[in-house]
Amino acid sequence: MIEIDGERLLKDLRALAEFGKAGTGVDRLALSAPDLAARRWLTARFAEVGLAAGMDRVGNVFGRDVDASRTVLIGSHTDSVPMGGWLDGALGVIYGLEIARTARARGYAGASGIDLISFQDEEGTYLPCLGSRSFCGDVADSEIAAARAKNGDALSEALAAVALELPPFRLDPARHRVYVEAHIEQGPRLESSAIRIGVVTGLVGIRRYRISFRGQADHAGTTPMATRKDAGATLISLAHRINTNMAALGSADTVWNIGQIVLRPGTPNVVPSEGEILLEIRDPQTEVLERIESEVLRWVTDIANSGPVAVAVQPTTRIPPTLMTPELGDAITAAARNQGEKVLAMPSGAGHDAMVLGRFIPSAMMFIPSIGGRSHDVTENTSDDDIVAGCRVLAAAIAQMLETLPQ
Ligand SMILES: [Zn+2]
Repeated sequence: MIEIDGERLLKDLRALAEFGKAGTGVDRLALSAPDLAARRWLTARFAEVGLAAGMDRVGNVFGRDVDASRTVLIGSHTDSVPMGGWLDGALGVIYGLEIARTARARGYAGASGIDLISFQDEEGTYLPCLGSRSFCGDVADSEIAAARAKNGDALSEALAAVALELPPFRLDPARHRVYVEAHIEQGPRLESSAIRIGVVTGLVGIRRYRISFRGQADHAGTTPMATRKDAGATLISLAHRINTNMAALGSADTVWNIGQIVLRPGTPNVVPSEGEILLEIRDPQTEVLERIESEVLRWVTDIANSGPVAVAVQPTTRIPPTLMTPELGDAITAAARNQGEKVLAMPSGAGHDAMVLGRFIPSAMMFIPSIGGRSHDVTENTSDDDIVAGCRVLAAAIAQMLETLPQ
């Protein structure tokens, strides 16, 4: 057993939340002064535990167990969205700190050990999952050179300004045998099922489309309804078809969103000549995404063939689902049940660093409840009891993983 100290865990989480504190949340954008101060604080905590700690050139904070040759890597991120929550990312990092600290104090030092990491810019202030992608050698220098924040600030300039010197920490699959990330759920499913532990089966795939409509602008007072080439009416008809038929077409986990609708020229007295829909679909299974895509394409063809408006679909984003490793999920489930906790197996509808790591090494994610499902806002919270219970479960699961790490 790794017997964690719940009070110490909460104290560290609250200490970290002081950096960039904004009401009940934090405003700790990647590479901002509070983010870097938090990362320096974290480096010192990792070192206190006895790990070789440092911050690399992109701002990843790493703690290396120098006694071990094969490790469980525990991590998440400590940057936040603007006016974000105090636990998003921080939870998984501080769970790692508490578990490594306890394990080392209990004499777990040996060939199998624990490495810790806080990835930079998971939230995408400059480049989503910059830290985990850099760690996995999955980001090109040209992409870093081109990345800019919404306000136009260049990532390369932000990095140059802080002048971090250590070369990038890199994933070493011979050493980092598995990756484990705990996170708040950021949704309501655990809370509404009165279950405290979520075991993530996979992170959803995401497909995005730009659907364009081209008709003809005409006087909205004088052109008879029957002869109009109304891009707006056609757009609304397709949007309605998507919203009424998608649920039956997808899986229980499918979510979709029409995030933007534009009509041009956009005045009440002109029949719209052009329209555009931005559609996003998420599901943990590629087959489901494929099925939905082919059906949406069929609806588009139908609607284009049956009316005077041309409709075109352009896929803009294709992020494949990342499956978590079932054996690692089973270890978390067993640890939870041992402690009298119920478990919900669930996909993650949000992206996480585990989405990147899971493509390279066996990976697992565990969720704990978010009060009211709130997140990416300062109102995000989780009860102290749930925070401590989650860490106890993860500690037990990690202990089991340490016993069984492949030689
Ligand atoms: Zn997060």
